[in-house]
Amino acid sequence: MRIDSRQPLVIGGGLAGSLLAIVLARRGFKPTVLERSPAFVAGTGHGRSINLAMAERGRRALRLVGVLERVEPLLIPMRGRMIHDPSGAQQLLSYGQRPEEQIYSVSRSLLNHALYQAARDDFGVRYEFQTRCTAVDTDSGAVTVMHAGRSVALQPEVIFAVDGARSAVRRALARAGHIRSREELLGHGYKELTIAARDGEFALEPGALHIWPRGGYMLIALPNLDRTFTATLFLKHEGEPSFATLADAQQFCNFFAASFPDAAPLIRDLHAEFTNNPTGELGTVRARPWSLGRRVLLMGDAAHAIVPFHGQGMNAAFEDCVVLDELIEKLGDDWGVVFERFEDRRIHNAGAIADMALENYLEMRDTVRDPQFALRKALSFELEQRHPGRFIPRYSMVMFHPEISYSEAQRRGALQSDILDRLLAGVEGVEAVDFQLADRLVRAKLG
Ligand code: FAD
Repeated sequence: MRIDSRQPLVIGGGLAGSLLAIVLARRGFKPTVLERSPAFVAGTGHGRSINLAMAERGRRALRLVGVLERVEPLLIPMRGRMIHDPSGAQQLLSYGQRPEEQIYSVSRSLLNHALYQAARDDFGVRYEFQTRCTAVDTDSGAVTVMHAGRSVALQPEVIFAVDGARSAVRRALARAGHIRSREELLGHGYKELTIAARDGEFALEPGALHIWPRGGYMLIALPNLDRTFTATLFLKHEGEPSFATLADAQQFCNFFAASFPDAAPLIRDLHAEFTNNPTGELGTVRARPWSLGRRVLLMGDAAHAIVPFHGQGMNAAFEDCVVLDELIEKLGDDWGVVFERFEDRRIHNAGAIADMALENYLEMRDTVRDPQFALRKALSFELEQRHPGRFIPRYSMVMFHPEISYSEAQRRGALQSDILDRLLAGVEGVEAVDFQLADRLVRAKLG
């Protein structure tokens, strides 16, 4: 295997890796992508087979690099959360108040394949599959890869590491003492289950992200193009109930039927799915710095993996690519400066979305059931209508407003939360809110 050492080497051909390769190719570089998996075959589960929620940040990135059209046919709009209570009753809580305020379910493997095809066919990007980075010499910048059963040494001038949450490159930099890196495990894992199509149709409302919040744990389901849903159970690893206490398939099936009585009959062979599908790990990666001089830059999950409860990991990784593109436009291949500026612009945002994603787990599995949650949401929507552009619910800032950075969404979200607390103290319905006070607070606090 040979590479042009003067051209960028992209390690990892996942979601961010392919988009990044397109960005680089559009700017006149000839990147090579190294990917440890076999060549992507559309529709098969490359890596994790889950589907993902794509929001406006992700769509904007795809639009800017000219690949949204290719991806659009893969997207299924979801306009709100469908909450399933234990009795089987369902309630749709819409995500936003405008028709375009929706998110989209997309299959990871189909999206991965579409980006790979675009990179290869439209931008001439070269991929080396079944090529795994095993070591990085941080002094010389040499990269060792396993390719076709052989260990090969490469000496690229610049490396973009987009090799995911367990990044071999990040770990090598951390081991050598160049960066500090913390991998914080959540203590909760996940298991995917398939909700089959019923008579060739969706068994649940397809235009929503379904949630079965149960306090300490929850089930969610996102629609697929083949009219199935991928359901994901999020549950603690230890404690009661947990993957440890439900290690036996029959115990698990009993627990599942009791917790999710309307979902259980929709899964054809829960016993087999439980046994065959792996239990995944969830965690947050906080690393700093993200680069090694002008030679290596970490991006996407490799730099800042987060828990999936705001549906933003991929969106954030795509936004990384947009920011890098803007910096290359300004600074060309002055990589040392590009990498520094990239980190300056992204690291606080990565921290903000990491925190908001953790908070959202509690909201999805628990708070969303509370009538107070619906009241806060209704008042947020009312204030957004009264003060457009000034009061925007935090969820909407994150999901529908890519022009507002994650850290700004977090900052404004905290101010808004204080306003809501004040207005809702002792109040049982939106009609009882003191809107004169609301107007004063919004104008004073939200410039
Ligand atoms: P990855 O997609 O993980 O890609 C890394 C690539 O590098 C892979 O192809 C891998 O095979 C390759 N690789 C790894 N190691 C090596 C190596 N040593 N050498 C060569 N290649 C290597 N995000 C959202 O925006 N919305 C969601 O709804 C959402 N839901 C999620 C649900 C779950 C359960 C999980 C776990 C994550 C979810 N995410 C979601 C997060 C999202 O999956 C990640 O943020 C996204 O995949 C990051 O893209 P990436 O390219 O940085 O990493």
